[in-house]
Amino acid sequence: MNPLNLHDSYPCPVCRFGQIAALPLMDAMACNLCQQIFEVDLERQQIKMSSRQPALLWNWNGSWCGAHLEGVELGWGYVFAAIALVLLPPTLMGLVIFIHPPAPNTPLSWLPYVWAGLGFLAHLAIVGWLVIEFYQFPLGLWLRRLPQQLLQRIRNS
Ligand SMILES: [Zn+2]
Repeated sequence: MNPLNLHDSYPCPVCRFGQIAALPLMDAMACNLCQQIFEVDLERQQIKMSSRQPALLWNWNGSWCGAHLEGVELGWGYVFAAIALVLLPPTLMGLVIFIHPPAPNTPLSWLPYVWAGLGFLAHLAIVGWLVIEFYQFPLGLWLRRLPQQLLQRIRNS
């Protein structure tokens, strides 16, 4: 594996489609697609996105690993909280449906199921939105690039 250096270009850890390369005369790299700028720490093999506070860090070990906040440890507690937020409401609704099933062939007997599904989707959207905000993921850009990237991948395979 090549150590992180300022002469090569690397896949962008934010948008995942662009390439980041060193800016001339600076210890910084920029993405050619999403325009994010990263400070480079060659000693620690690390890049830092300082456009947000606290800054986001990635370590290089052949690929980018572990986006994390500078000085903040994102523990499993958050992951469990996110999973609970997504799964708990629809599970509760499911339980209620299971205990008191709607009488079949009555009007609106489908409603509890749809409601449970909507609850699941709504909470999933909340968590997804938080993740996107957290990583400053350029969703719009990504969605616009996706068709091209898929076509390229199909052509290359
Ligand atoms: Zn990028």
